[in-house]
Amino acid sequence: MVEVAVLVDITRCIGCRACQMSCKQWWRLEPSETSFSPTITNPPKRDEHTYLNVEYHEVIGDDGRLSWNFVHKRCFHCVDPVCVSVCPVAAMRKTPDGPVVWDEARCMGCRYCAQACPFRIPNYQFHSLWPEVSKCWFCWDRIAEGLQPACSKACPPKAIEFGEREAVLAEAHRRIEEFPEKYVDYVYGEKEAGGTSLFYISGVPFEQLGFNMAVPHEPLPELTWEFLSKIPFEAAAIIGSMTAIWYIRGRALQDLPEKDEAGHE
Ligand code: SF4
Ligand code: SF4
Ligand code: SF4
Repeated sequence: MVEVAVLVDITRCIGCRACQMSCKQWWRLEPSETSFSPTITNPPKRDEHTYLNVEYHEVIGDDGRLSWNFVHKRCFHCVDPVCVSVCPVAAMRKTPDGPVVWDEARCMGCRYCAQACPFRIPNYQFHSLWPEVSKCWFCWDRIAEGLQPACSKACPPKAIEFGEREAVLAEAHRRIEEFPEKYVDYVYGEKEAGGTSLFYISGVPFEQLGFNMAVPHEPLPELTWEFLSKIPFEAAAIIGSMTAIWYIRGRALQDLPEKDEAGHE
């Protein structure tokens, strides 16, 4: 099966948020609380109802000129995802064509995925009795039908391009080589965490757009047990109590109406 990916060209994004709205519409997500303080990014953070948000960054260049840069942010769907390897009950899994998806029936709510993710992506419903982990699903249901993700389909200036991973990555490098005056010479997402399925190219340095430049370049699952060993007592306690919750939750879910993998009833 061919692995898919997305290229986000930050120089093309006009900040219209059509991707953000299209994601909410496709996944039937509730509105999130909005705020215009301290940033125009709205909603200010991704949350259980917002798998994707468009960040607004005001950048002053070396020539003193101000520019606005808009960044479509969501799960990277890592090639070798640490959220999958750290999950004790295999509730997170990587599908053969690329999306990293979550299984409600298996999850025991330990939140290791959220703690281990180098991009701080998974959100967790702290207020719920049966909390869910929420993040971008890479529209796996649409991809399985031969469609592109809802967000890339909605983007008016084609700032988000979907396709086969190798082709998308080659296109990112082609643009940088062809227009060196327009782009910084770096594809974010190519090396981070050992490689991801979400690539960015930009006209301003990534560190000025809130990207984490300290993410290691080797696959992070190799560090999984190092991560867990840092919290040995907490880990033991959490696993013990969560296993009980997992069992109870599994029993409860047997009585619920059937849902598809994305949570649609
Ligand atoms: S970005 Fe985080 S949540 Fe997404 S696949 Fe990678 S490790 Fe998992
Ligand atoms: S790929 Fe699908 S789930 Fe992910 S941000 Fe885009 S529309 Fe939302
Ligand atoms: S739809 Fe395209 S142009 Fe509009 S905010 Fe999203 S990425 Fe930017």
